[in-house]
Amino acid sequence: MNNAMTICEICQSNDFSSIEAKERMFGTRDTFTYAECNSCKSLFLLDPPTDLGQYYPSNYYSFGKFNSSNSLLGLLKKLRYKAFSFGISIRPPVYFNWLLPLKLTETSKIADIGCGNGQLLAELSYCGFLHLDGYDPFVEVPFNSKRFSISKKEFFEIDKTYDLVMFHHSFEHMPRPAEVFENLVKILNPGGEVLIRVPVTDGQVWKEDKAYWFQLDAPRHLFIPNTKSMQILGERFGLELYNTTFDSMDSQFWGTALYKKGKPLMGSIIEEEFSKEELSEFKIKATHYNKEKIGDQACFYFRKKATTS
Ligand SMILES: [Zn+2]
Repeated sequence: MNNAMTICEICQSNDFSSIEAKERMFGTRDTFTYAECNSCKSLFLLDPPTDLGQYYPSNYYSFGKFNSSNSLLGLLKKLRYKAFSFGISIRPPVYFNWLLPLKLTETSKIADIGCGNGQLLAELSYCGFLHLDGYDPFVEVPFNSKRFSISKKEFFEIDKTYDLVMFHHSFEHMPRPAEVFENLVKILNPGGEVLIRVPVTDGQVWKEDKAYWFQLDAPRHLFIPNTKSMQILGERFGLELYNTTFDSMDSQFWGTALYKKGKPLMGSIIEEEFSKEELSEFKIKATHYNKEKIGDQACFYFRKKATTS
């Protein structure tokens, strides 16, 4: 264990276990070591590779092809969101549910950290949101349109403030979570909110299958929290954790089973690896795990105080 991990930067415990994990998404099988805090159950990747960029090849999922909507489809999407706001659900896309607990208006300033190709920002623009910025250090070309912008920037380089800062599976790709929270408070407007969607070690799959866990995803995941560690981080930096919901998916089961078979994600055809019955079982099981709060990912909602005292 390296010297940088003698004390847990979340809870200050010095009691760690160590877990060896292989790169399994692309199947390079490079080996890495995680430290698991035995107190708050956070996971830290020790000695991340210096050139992490090589583990984000161009076929990495968040840089897939961007799908734009024509003006008619854009209008329909706006109407669908308006209806949803009034309690009428017309085949709502999954992100509507993530937005539900937030206090947003069309003029809210929204940042998406690790925005990939910007698809979510585009969808939010069709819903009527007017101030949308994405940040991603791995994006190839910055992008600026009337609808939204994408900057090739690290999180710590952001020089604007926001009413909502979102991390959709990007928080776990960042080192030094305490520093991330420290900076979060700086870029949040008073009363501003944070949505962090992230894998969590509360998951039963992690407890049962450890290094084969689909969302361990070495070495891309540098830090994986727990519901307890997120609570601690919020308290430490003056952000109220006002809601936590589990939104884990069937992939926690088929992905982990695939890795246990020794197969990589890339190049595997899930429908050939598992029967229809197995795949539908996985979906049912994920819903059950989320209700029991033992799914492998969750949404955390934080709020900054409206006034600074
Ligand atoms: Zn800890």
